[in-house]
Amino acid sequence: MKIVKIDKTDWSAGLQRSRESYRLVGPIKGENDDFAGIRELGEGEEPDLTATDTVLSPKSIVYPQSEIMFEYTTDKDSPDANLLIRPEKNYSPCAVVGIRPYDAAAFLLVRKNFDTPEYRDPYWCDAYEASTFIGLAVNRPDSTDFSTSTGSGPFSEKGLDALLVDTGDHYLAKLITEKGEAYVKAAGWKTEADPDTALKQIEEMKAVAEARISSAVAFENIRKKTILELYEADFWEDIAFSCINCGTCTYLCPTCWCFDIQDENRGTNGIRYKNWDSCMYPLFSLHGSGHNPRGTKVMRVRQRFMHKLKYFLDKYDDGIMCVGCGRCVRSCPVNIDIRRVCDIMNSYGTVENACTV
Ligand code: SF4
Ligand code: SF4
Repeated sequence: MKIVKIDKTDWSAGLQRSRESYRLVGPIKGENDDFAGIRELGEGEEPDLTATDTVLSPKSIVYPQSEIMFEYTTDKDSPDANLLIRPEKNYSPCAVVGIRPYDAAAFLLVRKNFDTPEYRDPYWCDAYEASTFIGLAVNRPDSTDFSTSTGSGPFSEKGLDALLVDTGDHYLAKLITEKGEAYVKAAGWKTEADPDTALKQIEEMKAVAEARISSAVAFENIRKKTILELYEADFWEDIAFSCINCGTCTYLCPTCWCFDIQDENRGTNGIRYKNWDSCMYPLFSLHGSGHNPRGTKVMRVRQRFMHKLKYFLDKYDDGIMCVGCGRCVRSCPVNIDIRRVCDIMNSYGTVENACTV
């Protein structure tokens, strides 16, 4: 395991050097300094490592909110008549610097849907493969972070190519993959730390950070229950009661992947778009016939939690479809808390499940 010591006085110069080979993506605050996002950085912009807890997750780096899939024309006089033309897009190497570890882990869960032996979404996969993920360990997780119980954590290396640890006057960069090594080389950061000393320091900092996490979810019993037991349970009305189906939880979640496909036609020309959608919206499941298999609020709320906490768990046998980032907990306008819902589902049918939402 190679660990490189990056003096903070050489941080900006290294980022600049890396721009010769990479596009830079990172967290950055908006004009009012109150809404941090993660996006491609222009000349002179640097990732703001004080703003890594972005309101929206970084999923849009590889899965834009709205994306052109292809253009077409039915004009018989055009040489491209009836062809599906995928537009040029920049898939040159891109370094995502300052991503939180649980957000990088989320891409691995989403990949199960977009990159399978039977089916490969070229838009998602090409953007993902062009990306190098340089994470920043979270030294002070907040009260809504429950990532350690979902298989991730503030110092998790899942999905990362390198992990930066802020030790005060320098970063320790743990190089995890060849992509991570290549990025650090391109940035010109060469000072190798003594691996034993550096690893010990990282492990100590990791233990302190993990000890700060005060909430957790358990789902062992959800796995043991049948789908119908949970689907037909009597708690869904209570859970869904205050939900306003605003979709906020799904839009800012790093692991929600629902999308909708729309064609926009003008005369004989058209564009097919792939847009984020949400299982919380009635239109998402509305059939052309007018029938809606999830026509009520309670059905939609149940779908969100059953997908994340039961269907995904059963299908992939790799945990729940949640990395514990806490975004939906912080931003739900009516305080619906997935930790509480998971607890209700997990303890359903047991003596402990005596309280209501
Ligand atoms: S953010 Fe809250 S109110 Fe909005 S759809 Fe999600 S659970 Fe419902
Ligand atoms: S805590 Fe909420 S927003 Fe974060 S991964 Fe889990 S479901 Fe998504």
